[in-house]
Amino acid sequence: MLGASWAGMLAAHVLARHMKSVTVIERDVLPDRPAQRKGLPQARHVHVLWSGGARIVEGLLPGTIDRMLAAGARKIGFHEDVVTLTSHGWQPRFAPRQYVMMCGRPVLDWVVREQVLANDRIHLRERTEAVTLTGDGTRVSGVQVRSLDGGAPEVLEADLVIDATGRGSGLRRWLSALGLPPVDVDVVDAGIAYSTREFVAPPGATAGFPAVNVAADHRERKPGRFGVVFPQEGGRWMVTLSCTRGGELPTTEEDFLPYARSLRDPLVAQLIGSAEPLTSVFVSHIGANRRLYPERLDRWPDGLLILGDSLAAFNPIHGHGMSAAARAASVLDERLGEGDLTPGRAHDVQRQISETVDDPWIMAASKDLEFVNCRNHATDPRLNQNSAGMHQFIDLIARGSMGSQAVSDIVTDVVSMSAPQSELGGSHFLSLIQRSERLPDLTEPPLSPEELAIVNLEPRSAVRAGR
Ligand SMILES: Cc1cc2nc3c(=O)[nH]c(=O)nc-3n(C[C@H](O)[C@H](O)[C@H](O)COP(=O)(O)OP(=O)(O)OC[C@H]3O[C@@H](n4cnc5c(N)ncnc54)[C@H](O)[C@@H]3O)c2cc1C
Repeated sequence: MLGASWAGMLAAHVLARHMKSVTVIERDVLPDRPAQRKGLPQARHVHVLWSGGARIVEGLLPGTIDRMLAAGARKIGFHEDVVTLTSHGWQPRFAPRQYVMMCGRPVLDWVVREQVLANDRIHLRERTEAVTLTGDGTRVSGVQVRSLDGGAPEVLEADLVIDATGRGSGLRRWLSALGLPPVDVDVVDAGIAYSTREFVAPPGATAGFPAVNVAADHRERKPGRFGVVFPQEGGRWMVTLSCTRGGELPTTEEDFLPYARSLRDPLVAQLIGSAEPLTSVFVSHIGANRRLYPERLDRWPDGLLILGDSLAAFNPIHGHGMSAAARAASVLDERLGEGDLTPGRAHDVQRQISETVDDPWIMAASKDLEFVNCRNHATDPRLNQNSAGMHQFIDLIARGSMGSQAVSDIVTDVVSMSAPQSELGGSHFLSLIQRSERLPDLTEPPLSPEELAIVNLEPRSAVRAGR
């Protein structure tokens, strides 16, 4: 197993159900508690685990959700526990249909890792780097590794090698070295960048105040600007401001609040205006949608699979990466359970794993193409056809899910990765959109007097009336 992050841990757990011994190769030292580490820079930014992925993880590792809650995560019901300004206005807080687990990424990783590494079939080798694959174009027989503490490279023989080394994976290079043709890669890059700072949340706010999400409106035809305030364990708010290419992301403490004020609504700025900062500003430029197509190769070596961000990584704003990796682990579990690693089968297993990334891929990449300055290097025909019709349909769905709970429920099922994306093209959904009576638009953030009191804000209507 190459890589011991989210995808690597889930896959190692699955492997250990079917194989005698699993060796996990990881460049970093993994903390023995929830903590940041070098190889996971994205963990400094907001992370959520959607219910679609959470249910899979719970199925693989029963008790995980309770462990996350015990470690301080909050189960945020969609849409009851979130106040969202969508591109089309304020989203009503409908009764929850799905949820996200909301807490720091280090907590999500640690809860899973602690359970997985307790298995004595799994052996972790830290400060060890995968350098290349061994074998040939028909069969991968192992991996060459080197210790970061020095010494000669070493070859580890394996019946199966799984690459989960993330966005920076060397897999395409490694396959070329085995004499295989290049694996196709698509990139759709809206230039997404994240800037994050943590604050002390007001007393009661992490449990009693909703998560806040102010999104961009792509129809303005200018770079998108986004902001979220997410409750975290330890009484903190994690505030991530983000933008698409050209959006002038804040990179200093001085720029942070003015940028929050420049969003389409001042709610994020109002919340953090008087909150005490806990950290400085942390900036990352990792957000392109990038997908490999191993299934397109005419031949694929036995003994090799790829999953997680190595296979496909998405614009993080949609929060789909970890759920996609969970889906892949679940397919791996099924196929290994069927004894499906006999010679000649790896390509088919990989094809099935690759199918699991198609929904999050098309959702994120097609949405990003709506933003100005998005760079499209995709061979996927769905991303190269006349896009006007697709964008009109996306807008129709966005409007529909604000005006009707029934429409919103189906969209939430898809977005939470609990239902396939094809639900949105089904006749039931289309007739629901046409039939639904629209609720009136909300004119201000849907916050109750009790919630406003927690953060010391007045209803806007009262402020306007000069009370
Ligand atoms: C800013 C940001 C916010 C995000 N927010 C969300 C979110 O809210 N919800 C969500 O579901 N997803 C989110 N994602 C995506 C999520 O972070 C990834 O999908 C997830 O981390 C993928 O896990 P992985 O194990 O495939 O890869 P990674 O987490 O990237 O881990 C790769 C691992 O491999 C190790 N490694 C790398 N190279 C080698 C090597 N040669 N040898 C040995 N080890 C190696 C690294 O040290 C690391 O431990 C976000 C991503 C970003 C960038």
